[in-house]
Amino acid sequence: MVDGFRPADLQEALEFRARHPSIPIAGGTDLMVQKARGFGLKPDFNKPLLFIGHLRKLRQISVRDGNIHIGAGVLLSELIINDKISEALKMAVRQMASPPSRNLATIGGNICNASPAGDTLPYLYAVDAKLILKSVSSERIIHIGKFITDPKQNTLEHDELLTEIIIPNKIFNVSYYKKVGQRKGMSLTKASFQGLADIKNSNVLDIRIAFGSVAPIIVRSREIEASIIGKPVSEINAAVPEILKKYATLIRPIDDARSSAAYRKRVSLRLLEDFLSKLS
Ligand SMILES: Cc1cc2nc3c(=O)[nH]c(=O)nc-3n(C[C@H](O)[C@H](O)[C@H](O)COP(=O)(O)OP(=O)(O)OC[C@H]3O[C@@H](n4cnc5c(N)ncnc54)[C@H](O)[C@@H]3O)c2cc1C
Repeated sequence: MVDGFRPADLQEALEFRARHPSIPIAGGTDLMVQKARGFGLKPDFNKPLLFIGHLRKLRQISVRDGNIHIGAGVLLSELIINDKISEALKMAVRQMASPPSRNLATIGGNICNASPAGDTLPYLYAVDAKLILKSVSSERIIHIGKFITDPKQNTLEHDELLTEIIIPNKIFNVSYYKKVGQRKGMSLTKASFQGLADIKNSNVLDIRIAFGSVAPIIVRSREIEASIIGKPVSEINAAVPEILKKYATLIRPIDDARSSAAYRKRVSLRLLEDFLSKLS
């Protein structure tokens, strides 16, 4: 049976969530595909749907304490045109799906779907995004890396909703994003790469490196980043083979319909090499 509830506001949504087992649905662009049963048949939802895509509280983008707060229900198309959103995130979002899908799909849905191929994720991991998870009686804030635990698995409680994504206030003067797919538009990700760096006087003040689609969850290593931070760019240029070797041990892609593991690994390391070459 497909049943659903369309709350008037966030409070009503959380109250419903507290009382009934339910499936939140925002744009439905992941859910409707996952639960489809074929032409003419109702999708296979085993719990009532809780419609949240229209909730105004989830649709806001604001700056608070210098950090950017993005409502979980903000559409991908809205991210692209909002001047508070960094060019780095826009670069990733512009390559997602198609304009009609981006007018339905939300950033919260991309996060909660927890796919290692989710295209907003490498950026969100790289900037240490935090998530606000609310229930009727509680609110918790956790790092995105603590929220997503495995492919399609997250730590959302049965009575919670993801309400906001917090992007820390931090400027990077080198920003690099590449998505590798079958074609330029409407392409499923074979591998994706996010690089961010803060370079001053040819020294690396900060660097963030995140790989998508090459392991069960997004790959980021604070240890390797720390080994790069504080060094002159010339020294990093000389250390590129060693850095690639370190990341090669962390990149563990699979063979699937989209690509082979060997291709994914090779192309991911080439993207890293290309990013490191741009630091100077
Ligand atoms: C044709 C097509 C192309 C696509 N291309 C891409 C692509 O290039 N890159 C990419 O990354 N993805 C792509 N996707 C996948 C999808 O569009 C995105 O992941 C999108 O961001 C999902 O958002 P949504 O609002 O539609 O999520 P929904 O389908 O509504 O929800 C997804 C999951 O998140 C949960 N959820 C949603 N919002 C909340 C919330 N606020 N709190 C708690 N749980 C929540 C739902 O219960 C569900 O489990 C594509 C999908 C299609 C159909």
